[in-house]
Amino acid sequence: MVWTLFLRYVVTLASTFLVLGDPDSAQLDGAPPSKIAIIGAGIGGTATAHFLRQHFGPEVRIDVFEKGAVGGRLATVTVNHQDYEAGGSIIHSLNLHMQDFVKQLGLKYRKSVAGKTAVFNGEEFILEETDWYLLDLFRLWWRYGISFIRLQMWVEEIMEKFMRIYKYQAHGYAFSSVEELLHSLGGTGFCNMTRRSLTESLLELGVSQRFIEEVIAPIMRVNYGQNISIPAFVGAVSLAGAQANIWAVEGGNKLVCSGLLKLAKANLMKARVTTVSLHTAGESNLYQLDFTSPTEKGTEFYEIVVVATPLETGVEPGISFHNFEPPLPEITGSYHQTVASIVHGYLNCSYFGFPDPKLFPFTSVLTTDSPGLFFNSAASICPVNISTGFRRKQPQEAGIYKVFSQRPLVKEDLKILFKSYYSVQVTNWQAYPHYGSMQGLPPVILHDHLYYLNSIEWAASAMEMSSVAAKNIALLAYHRWNRQLEMIDQKDLMHKIKTEL
Ligand SMILES: Cc1cc2nc3c(=O)[nH]c(=O)nc-3n(C[C@H](O)[C@H](O)[C@H](O)COP(=O)(O)OP(=O)(O)OC[C@H]3O[C@@H](n4cnc5c(N)ncnc54)[C@H](O)[C@@H]3O)c2cc1C
Repeated sequence: MVWTLFLRYVVTLASTFLVLGDPDSAQLDGAPPSKIAIIGAGIGGTATAHFLRQHFGPEVRIDVFEKGAVGGRLATVTVNHQDYEAGGSIIHSLNLHMQDFVKQLGLKYRKSVAGKTAVFNGEEFILEETDWYLLDLFRLWWRYGISFIRLQMWVEEIMEKFMRIYKYQAHGYAFSSVEELLHSLGGTGFCNMTRRSLTESLLELGVSQRFIEEVIAPIMRVNYGQNISIPAFVGAVSLAGAQANIWAVEGGNKLVCSGLLKLAKANLMKARVTTVSLHTAGESNLYQLDFTSPTEKGTEFYEIVVVATPLETGVEPGISFHNFEPPLPEITGSYHQTVASIVHGYLNCSYFGFPDPKLFPFTSVLTTDSPGLFFNSAASICPVNISTGFRRKQPQEAGIYKVFSQRPLVKEDLKILFKSYYSVQVTNWQAYPHYGSMQGLPPVILHDHLYYLNSIEWAASAMEMSSVAAKNIALLAYHRWNRQLEMIDQKDLMHKIKTEL
C-alpha cells in the first residue's frame, strides 16, 4: 500500500517535471510558468485568476480550488423565490476594480431603493433620518456641532490617498507586504492607522465623544460587528461605505466571481485543499497540493500558488503546510463571528415605540453599543433582482428583513423583533478579522512563489480590498517570476509616475 502510494507519487512528480520542464531555467529564459493554483474562489481568488491571466498570458494553466460555492463570502439566500444578499452586499462608487469587473463582464448595477435609517439605543431612537436633507444636517449640527464635517473631511482625505493604488497598479508597481502598500499610499500615517484605535484618531481630530458613540459606533456594528476600538484604517473604510454613493450588482454580487473565472479561462477544481508541501529539485521549487472532494482525493504540482482564503486559527478548514524549512510564519489572530438572519415576517414596530406599524418610517435600524442589545442591526432588504415597478414592503406587510447579531438569535429574540414570521434563514459567518486579536499584519509572501491574499483583510476587509490585493499579488508574482525587482516596493511612486508620463 505504502509502496503503491510512493510509486504513484514518483510518477506524478516525474510527469509534472516533464510537463513543466525545469522551472528555474524557465524563469531565466523568460518562459511563463506552466501551472498556477489559487486556493479559494471568493472575490479575492477569482480576481487573482483574472489578473494572473492578464499578466502571464494565455498558455499558463490556472486551477482555482473551491471547497464550497463560488463567491465565498459573497452569497445569496432564497426566500419566496427571490434571492437576497447574505454576505458582502454594498460597494462604494469609488471601488474602481469592482466597477471595472462589472463593466468587463457585462453585468448591471442594481437599482437602489430609497429608505430611511434610524439609530436605536435599546429604549428609543436617538437619531432619525427624515425626508429633508437640510433638516437632517441641521439636526446633526445641533446635536454634535461640526463633528460630522470634520469626519467627512477626514474620510475624504483618506479615500483620496487610497485612490493612488489604482495609478500605481496601472503602471505595474507591486508591493511585497501590506505595510509597503499602505506606506506608498499614505506614508507612516496609514501604517499607524492599522495600529491605532478609531476612537483615538477621531477624538484627536476633534470629533465629539457623543458623535462617536451615537453615530460612529452603530456604523461599526453594522459593517464589522465590532466596536469603536477597531483600528482607524478599517474604521475609515467602514465610514466610506456608510456614504450615500454605494451600489450592488444586479442578480447578486457573487456573479462577479463566476464571471471572472470564465473570463480568466481558469479551471474550477471543486475540492478542498488539505496540504501544501514544498518540493525542491536543485534550485527550483514546486508546490504539491493535496485535495479532497466528495468523490476523490488528488494531488497536483504547481510553480506558483496563491492562498485566497483566511489562514487564521479557527477559520475552518485549515490547510497544513509541509516540508518548509524554516517553517512558514504562523498566521495568528481570529475571525469575528457575525450571524446574518434573513427573516420573512412582520416587524414588531411596537418594540421601537411605534404601536401603529403604518407610522413606522424606517427601513434600517442601527444600534448603539448598549449592554443587553442582542442585535447589531435590522433592515428591510430588497432582492438582488429589482424589476421595474418594484416596491419595498411597508412595515404593516410581511417583508424580508436582515438582522445582524453576534450570536444566533433564539426564539425569544425573534419574538421581540417580529410580531410573527414565516421563515428564518441563518448564515453564521466567520465574517472578517476580529480586529482586537490583531498581532501585526500577516505576510503576503509566505515562500518564494507562495502568496497569501487575505493578509489585506487585517488592514480592512471588503470586496475592493480583496480585489486590490488580487491585482497586487498578480503583479508581484509576475515580477518575482521574471526577476523584475525594480517594480516591487519602489519608493516615492507619486513622483516617479509623474515623471514617467
Ligand atoms: C456578513 C458580511 C457582510 C459583509 N458586507 C460587506 C459589504 O457590504 N461590502 C464589502 O465590500 N464587503 C463586505 N463584507 C466583506 C467581504 O464579503 C469580504 O471581504 C470578501 O468577500 C472576502 O473575499 P475573499 O475572496 O478574500 O474571501 P472568501 O470570500 O472567504 O473566499 C474564500 C474561499 O475559499 C474557499 N476555501 C476555504 N478553504 C479552502 C480550502 N482549503 N480549499 C478550497 N477552497 C477553500 C471558501 O469556501 C471560500 O469560497 C462582508 C462580509 C460578511 C461576512
